[in-house]
Amino acid sequence: MIDYPSLHMLIDGERVAAGDRRVHRVVNPATEEILGELPLSGAADLDRALAAAQRGFVCWQGTPASERAAVLTGAARLMLERKEAIARIATLEQGKTLAETRIEVMMNVGLFHFYAGECQRVYGRQLVRPAGMRSTVTYEPVGPVAAFAPWNFPIGNPGRKLGAPIAAGCSVILKPPEEAPASALAVLQCLLDAGLPGDVGQIVFGVPDEVSRHLLASPVIRKLSFTGSTTVGKHLARLAADDCKRTTMELGGHGPVLVFDDVDVDRVLDTVVPHKYRNAGQVCVSPTRFVVEEGIFERFRDGFIERASKIPVGNGLEDGVQMGPMANPRRPEAMDRLVGEAVASGAALGCGGQRIGNRGFFYAPTVLSNVPADCAIMTEEPFGPVALINAFADEAAMVAEANRLPYGLAAYVWTKDAERQRRVARAVEAGMVGVNTTMIGGADAPFGGVKWSGHGHEDGTEGLMACMVLKAIHEG
Ligand code: NAD
Repeated sequence: MIDYPSLHMLIDGERVAAGDRRVHRVVNPATEEILGELPLSGAADLDRALAAAQRGFVCWQGTPASERAAVLTGAARLMLERKEAIARIATLEQGKTLAETRIEVMMNVGLFHFYAGECQRVYGRQLVRPAGMRSTVTYEPVGPVAAFAPWNFPIGNPGRKLGAPIAAGCSVILKPPEEAPASALAVLQCLLDAGLPGDVGQIVFGVPDEVSRHLLASPVIRKLSFTGSTTVGKHLARLAADDCKRTTMELGGHGPVLVFDDVDVDRVLDTVVPHKYRNAGQVCVSPTRFVVEEGIFERFRDGFIERASKIPVGNGLEDGVQMGPMANPRRPEAMDRLVGEAVASGAALGCGGQRIGNRGFFYAPTVLSNVPADCAIMTEEPFGPVALINAFADEAAMVAEANRLPYGLAAYVWTKDAERQRRVARAVEAGMVGVNTTMIGGADAPFGGVKWSGHGHEDGTEGLMACMVLKAIHEG
């Protein structure tokens, strides 16, 4: 029997089981076995969560920062103790390898520790005024937050959605992905076991559009925090605008990687190829469009294909596997469509381009080169294990290609030329730029995009301040 926990919602401190509610079947993407049945909320559940979130906020906003910090620190400790169990749950329901889900646990541990410290360092300021007058600027938590997390980082996304608001003194109603629910429940359980009141952190599941419409229509919710596709993000931002709610939107990307002639090609490939196929490419900052200067194009492409075709693909629970299945059946379907159209339009298929086996949602690491710019895969976020490699004549053409799309999340630049590093890093339209590195995140680093990749940030001081509002008080 599979070692997978029973599923519930967490509303007002209570575990709410299915009862006579609708359910969603959670599927293991490596085996297509059903792992469990997840209760889906109705309007009464959501109203109950809203009432609790309002009550929880009133209490939590007045709780000293040191006590909020203690909860976050305690949750980080519990997460570390439960690391193996949580990582295994996430691999079962999402597919990525155990090595990757362990990293996600550690990301949350780091983030909770960071916010435990940072929430005790929120300073206001006093303005210079004539004697007898005083003007102060203070920060207050924004209020109850409705947060929506996607399935690609089943542990890390809920950690981000909960960590900063809780540190700031907000209450949160989180709707994690119905496809990977147990990981999010395990993260919130660490916070509850560390002393977080049950009306401050809650989890509901449901039909996404029903839940978001219901929560965002409520005046209780003062902030929307969403990670997911640009299409859904725009829809939710419109709903939030009806009530002037604040928003943090982490949306899609189509990461350009600019590789100049002067690099050590093998060194670059040894870094970028494993990074491309991390989480089977289902990462918003995944390196996707490889924009390669002409002189090294063939060597880069051939080295990429050689490495990609050797990546061991399989069940993420098994030793030696470096890439698991895709998270749901929609992704291999999308790969068939996008890769098929590109090849039919003249793109060269270097490796992959097909599903693996007839059980599980596996898709082979794929390399396409000479891909026509008008192919769907050159504009639509592939969100899969596909690298697109094209040759360009010079820096100007490469920067133009990087900025061609409406997305602006992560971009990567590889060159030894120090002046070019600075020039290109400034010229690319992106919220995050990696120069000779793929490491573009960290608990202390703001994570977010520009253009259609969204607005606002998570992580870093900026992620905490995004959960606060500013008040200027003038005394005569
Ligand atoms: P999708 O666009 O329908 O869903 C994306 C996420 O948004 C899911 O978690 C889903 O539950 C949620 N969602 C959808 N409709 C919603 C609504 N009305 N209210 C609240 N939440 C809603 O489709 P999908 O098949 O799950 O993913 C497809 C695309 O989404 C991917 O190709 C990728 O571009 C994007 N995506 C991005 C991220 C990211 O980290 N930025 C994560 C997951 C998916």
